[in-house]
Amino acid sequence: MKILTCLLLIVSFAVQADDYAAVRQSMIDELQVYAKLARDTDASRLSDAVLRAMNTVERHRMVPASQLPFAYENRPLPIGHGQTISQPYIVALMTELIEPDADDVVLEIGTGSGYQAAVLAELVEHVYSIEIIEALATQAKHRLESMGYDNVTTRLGDGYFGWDEHAPFDAIVVTAAASHVPPPLIEQLKPGGLMIIPVGGRFMTQTLLLLEKTDDGEIITRQYGAVRFVPLTGKH
Ligand code: SAM
Repeated sequence: MKILTCLLLIVSFAVQADDYAAVRQSMIDELQVYAKLARDTDASRLSDAVLRAMNTVERHRMVPASQLPFAYENRPLPIGHGQTISQPYIVALMTELIEPDADDVVLEIGTGSGYQAAVLAELVEHVYSIEIIEALATQAKHRLESMGYDNVTTRLGDGYFGWDEHAPFDAIVVTAAASHVPPPLIEQLKPGGLMIIPVGGRFMTQTLLLLEKTDDGEIITRQYGAVRFVPLTGKH
């Protein structure tokens, strides 16, 4: 009887794991179609490397239990404290636009659930991520550790000021809407580095901006359509 119960448990676990793999693959298929329609990237497609990272990270482990049935839907979901886990397409797009390389060191502002940090961690050498809400920062830290992401370092703080100690960064990903591009983040970007950031008002859509810092320190800005993010808060 005990053996039968064990077998049933193993089978049901395997079925559940497979269920998530299948829905995650459906999400990837949807992202590819979405990318073609949206034409946000120059090539109108997401790279294989980014799609592989999106297909590896277990989004269902990043959401509250109440959101589990929706974990692989292409939309933001509530994670508590008035915050959200970002829409998978936007996570993929922002990741694509910073052109991640295996030896890159990336700064993320707004750890939230840890999802974007995990996707980046699949592609780059190290991710530093800052979260301003203590409960989310603590939860994401433990979650990322338990998922084996030992190339992500998180901390509680106001990301407006960046993380000087680990600068300069090859890329910076800001996942909350800012009224302007924080000057400390521009300073902490390497020459040749890229920053992706939603800029605009708090209660409306924002514009996704890609900033490139040239080798002589000049900033070139490109726009990538309208997005809607929760605001960058803090005392700055
Ligand atoms: N990257 C997150 C993810 O993948 O789940 C998305 C998080 S949500 C859209 C934005 C996050 O930015 C929230 O968790 C919010 O608390 C955080 N945030 C807002 N202002 C911040 C600031 N000044 N410094 C750091 N984090 C901030």
